[in-house]
Amino acid sequence: MNKPNLRQAEILCVGTELLIGDIVNTNAAYLARRLAALGIGVYRQSVVGDNPTRLAADLRAALDRVDLVITSGGLGPTYDDLTKETAAAVFGRGMRMHEPSLERIRRYFTATGRKMTPNNEKQAMMPEGAIVFPNDYGTAPALALEREDGKVLIMLPGPPRELEPMFREQVEPYLHPRCDAVLFSRNIHIAGMGESAVEAALPRALLDSANPTIAPYCVAGEVRLRVTAKAENETVAAALCDKMVERVKETPVAPYIYGIDTPSPEAALVAYLTARGLTVATAESCTGGLIAKRLTDIAGCSGAVAGGAVTYQTREKTAILGVDPTLIEAHTVVSEPVARAMAEGALQKFDTDLAIATTGYAGPGGGTEQDPVGTVYIAVATKEQTVCRRLSLSPLRDRAYIRTVAATNAILDAWRLLNGLQLPPQ
Ligand code: ATP
Repeated sequence: MNKPNLRQAEILCVGTELLIGDIVNTNAAYLARRLAALGIGVYRQSVVGDNPTRLAADLRAALDRVDLVITSGGLGPTYDDLTKETAAAVFGRGMRMHEPSLERIRRYFTATGRKMTPNNEKQAMMPEGAIVFPNDYGTAPALALEREDGKVLIMLPGPPRELEPMFREQVEPYLHPRCDAVLFSRNIHIAGMGESAVEAALPRALLDSANPTIAPYCVAGEVRLRVTAKAENETVAAALCDKMVERVKETPVAPYIYGIDTPSPEAALVAYLTARGLTVATAESCTGGLIAKRLTDIAGCSGAVAGGAVTYQTREKTAILGVDPTLIEAHTVVSEPVARAMAEGALQKFDTDLAIATTGYAGPGGGTEQDPVGTVYIAVATKEQTVCRRLSLSPLRDRAYIRTVAATNAILDAWRLLNGLQLPPQ
């Protein structure tokens, strides 16, 4: 008889450390994302301490509610690792030594030059009838128990560096034959338009589309439109997404799109420069090297990124970038003329095709009445022109946010200038 498909899941993370807030539950987030991609709806996530009575109650309740329950944690060798034993009791199964697992654990200890203690053998004890997933990343194997009615309990080890690859490599292939659909997403990256403006610019028919769905969401200084399609396989789902992306490109949002599934603004800029053999330099004050850091985060950027200067003090702006001191005196150091002069100075000094400069008040102290904390002047210079924009962020934002968003905007202004796009109003 064919086993029924798995449509609804619950994630149950085991560990007192999680309950008391010692560690953050990244496993739940990871598993939820992967299950969504398999088209399995996650109906509930919960956390239970290392307590067999409460764990048994939660397992029973979850198995009553949904088809698939996934646990993380409590598979280790110590006395408080009790997920397997509790699950065996819930399923009415005994515990048996699983010889292949014992052999693997022995080999793991030999290979890593560590001494195996008797309690490590406990990790090879399995409930009767368990499907065992060997662990190539640690010692505790993962396992699945199938109930007569087709419901499934999967138990994974707690450490994310073990759980994540094991889920991808072993649990997903196990689940695939019992999944209805796959979910596939594309992200449209937009900058220079707020979330509500993006939504207002999209036709109702697109926003109301059920498959693919389209949803805007904000991430530091930019908007993403996540397009998600559900289909019988990834090829069909990807084609549905791509069709929707083309429709979005026909709306007024189009000029603000800087990439599709682009990892970051810096990746978009470096890719543009590299493809055309162009170079960039940075001249940073309030961003303190963040722009240079983000550009050089991109592997293979060396052809495009020439160098940069962090000119934090006024004197350095003059000494390194050649900014005229009388300009600084006349306009203050956080001003449009100084930002422009910094960018033009860097363009000359580094002899590049493009230069990006920032000067601003990242706070919490400083600022003036006209230019309070959160004001950042961003200038981008090419051999033909220099553009400058006054970015005005809320003074209530913290220093890290102001610096991050200023760097994002500066990188995107450079990208926009190269693409002949208008800069956003502020
Ligand atoms: P081990 O074989 O290492 O004992 P285990 O399955 O018994 O694995 P736990 O002892 O419950 O797992 O957790 C081990 C470690 O894994 C924790 O100290 C923590 O660092 C990490 N961990 C456990 N659960 C989570 C979770 N839900 N999210 C993120 N990290 C977790």
